[in-house]
Amino acid sequence: MIDVCLLGTGGMMPLPNRLLTSLFVKYNGRGILIDSGEATQIAMKKKGISSKPIDVICFTHYHADHISGLPGLLLTMGNAERTEPLLMIGPKGLERVVNSLRVIAPELPFEIKFKELTGDEVSFELEGNPEFTIKAFKVNHNVICYGYTMSLRRQGKFNVEAATEAGIDRKYWNALQKGDTVTLDDGTIYTPDMVLGEERKGIKLTYTTDTRPTDSIVNNAKDSDLFICEGMYGEKDKIAKAREHKHMTFYEAADLARKAGVKELWLTHYSPSLVNPKEFLPETKKIFDKTVAAKDGRSVTLRFED
Ligand SMILES: [Zn+2]
Ligand SMILES: [Zn+2]
Repeated sequence: MIDVCLLGTGGMMPLPNRLLTSLFVKYNGRGILIDSGEATQIAMKKKGISSKPIDVICFTHYHADHISGLPGLLLTMGNAERTEPLLMIGPKGLERVVNSLRVIAPELPFEIKFKELTGDEVSFELEGNPEFTIKAFKVNHNVICYGYTMSLRRQGKFNVEAATEAGIDRKYWNALQKGDTVTLDDGTIYTPDMVLGEERKGIKLTYTTDTRPTDSIVNNAKDSDLFICEGMYGEKDKIAKAREHKHMTFYEAADLARKAGVKELWLTHYSPSLVNPKEFLPETKKIFDKTVAAKDGRSVTLRFED
């Protein structure tokens, strides 16, 4: 299962009751944060999320509303005596941008590793969890910007009959079920595919913000259990503004959700001028019924089917 918490739902600037967009994801004890705008720490504190177990921070892009909370967050992680390395993933310029911000957070008790994104799509395995993949894909904003999917694979069911028929000793079943290959002293090799059925449907989460609608979003969000997407404007007549500033309206986000066949859409990154996002939901739901105008702190645990 994957725990998801949309820490903030604001775009451009934090408001008293709407902090800037940031997403916290937890899988198997590992924490992943996407973006860390100003006040991300406050949003985490409100939800009782500790900053110590953050292992990866992904950045969509380097506009201040997505990264200016980083130095303070790093200081807090340092004060919590974290020593494990922290991985940062983001568009070109990552190391330069982070090191500039680190002038005010220079001494940290942990190492920062950088993975700069180049090209249209890049995938990473979550360290120690090869079944969990983080994929970045390019979107269309007025600076280089990426969306992210996180996918948890689910292996096939263990086939006791196949294992017995192949004469595999029970003591190796556990290893094979975990996906390990077993080599015996006499050179016999047992591989997981000998005892596992077809891979089953896993879990997929997609997050995109600060972009116009793109094919890359439709393709990468395909069949997501949860699609979190910017909805900068609810007013239909703000489409020209959305085009000009490379953002989206609720209706464009809903159209992407429909095309990608996702299970649920959460809107986020609202314009500060958008006082009551819910007001525009009935019209949005005509395009994609399972749309939620998310509020700060909205959480869900995504689980395997059945
Ligand atoms: Zn933004
Ligand atoms: Zn932006």
